[in-house]
Amino acid sequence: MVIGSGFGGYFAARRLRRQGLDVTVLSATDGMVYAPLLPDVAVGAVDPRSAVVPLTGTLGRARIVRGRADGVDLDARQVHYTGADGSTADLPYDRLLLAPGSVTRLLDIPGLADHAIGLKTVTEALYLRDHVLGRIEAASAMDDPDRRRAALTFVVVGAGYAGTELVAQMARMTGQLLPLHPRIRPGELRWFLVDVAPAVMPELGSRLGEDALQLLRRRGVDVRLKTSVQRVTADRVTLTDGTELDCTTVVWCAGVTGNPLVSSLGLPTSKGRLVVGADLTVPGHPELFAIGDAAAVPDLTKDPDRDGHRPLCPPTAQHAMRQATAAARNIAASLGRGRARPYHHHDLGLVVDLGGPDAAATPLGLHLAGRTAKVVTRGYHLYALPTVRRRARVAADWALAGPLPDDVSFGAVDRDEALITTAEADRP
Ligand SMILES: Cc1cc2nc3c(=O)[nH]c(=O)nc-3n(C[C@H](O)[C@H](O)[C@H](O)COP(=O)(O)OP(=O)(O)OC[C@H]3O[C@@H](n4cnc5c(N)ncnc54)[C@H](O)[C@@H]3O)c2cc1C
Repeated sequence: MVIGSGFGGYFAARRLRRQGLDVTVLSATDGMVYAPLLPDVAVGAVDPRSAVVPLTGTLGRARIVRGRADGVDLDARQVHYTGADGSTADLPYDRLLLAPGSVTRLLDIPGLADHAIGLKTVTEALYLRDHVLGRIEAASAMDDPDRRRAALTFVVVGAGYAGTELVAQMARMTGQLLPLHPRIRPGELRWFLVDVAPAVMPELGSRLGEDALQLLRRRGVDVRLKTSVQRVTADRVTLTDGTELDCTTVVWCAGVTGNPLVSSLGLPTSKGRLVVGADLTVPGHPELFAIGDAAAVPDLTKDPDRDGHRPLCPPTAQHAMRQATAAARNIAASLGRGRARPYHHHDLGLVVDLGGPDAAATPLGLHLAGRTAKVVTRGYHLYALPTVRRRARVAADWALAGPLPDDVSFGAVDRDEALITTAEADRP
């Protein structure tokens, strides 16, 4: 049985089915959300449906149960869950693969939980788009300068891939929409990117990170490094460098922690992620496997520190997908088919879509920027999307987004649904 249908759970279930095993997938979502495309969804470059791969019809004869795992009885080998209709039941298992992903790591900052929006779900991406368009529209009709400034100021916290891609693409998209709002002057629209780190996306290396920083600045983004947020209210944000901003939009992309389901098991965790060995089993529980953002998987490509501890694999889609293949192989081996092997994967690099013709990519140690990086970035996503239909849909969305940008906002998602606290309690 597999819990979760994201990068880890989906690819593992598919692999297990191909090995002829009986698979039950229990997931809170009825699709696999391709999270790296959420910034594209937020700017309207990709339709939300294109970024979700349905489970039905793509996982062969796997039994798909829509519901939220509430707990695992390790002795009885049963998962307790609440179904989509609110009813509760138990599902038995022989082998259990935990892949419930992560939740947004909220820091203890006054007002953050009440006012910040996240970007981990399709709901949040859709809300963000409508909200930003709505704020600009509202500001265009306002005369009060304070309210107008607050409506036109957007703060994104976290300069990792989610925050950097989002702010780069949003600043470009909103800049292009300004001519539709002649009452708004270009300087009035303000985007901020805030991070405690000294660099934007340090994983890109100093040269590409600096390129990304310069690109953001050219797009008018005010990047504040070595800075965090001190306090958030409905219409004001205070930064740790003392800046007070009139602002009604804070997007929190500052890190994740393991899904609370794994810490509820009473087993050892590291930084909120379930501790597993290199074979992806939980020590002392050969029937229990964990992968992806929810698992603390030792990175065998890195040397141990002085205390003999190895660094953990970072929480990325790339690792979750590769761990899915390794876990499926080791689960089959535990049932007498083939041999188990430790998880060992050299990072293949990063792809970062910065909107328009711009991107940064580090495939196989190369450092690419501009159009070449854009081709690599889009090519990688099309390759990694699991079905031909999704690849075709996303490619078509990208092709249309240039000549026919989507400028409609539906306002279909309530603000409450997009606040991090609600979104995490009710994922997707
Ligand atoms: C905006 C954004 C951009 C990103 N960009 C990149 C990128 O460019 N490159 C990259 O490598 N990584 C990127 N990531 C990170 C990447 O998406 C994650 O590392 C990856 O999704 C982890 O896979 P996972 O299977 O562990 O979890 P997820 O993909 O999050 O899947 C978790 C699954 O578990 C289900 N679930 C959760 N709780 C329960 C429960 N209690 N019961 C049942 N089911 C449950 C969820 O519904 C979901 O189906 C990005 C993430 C975000 C949010």
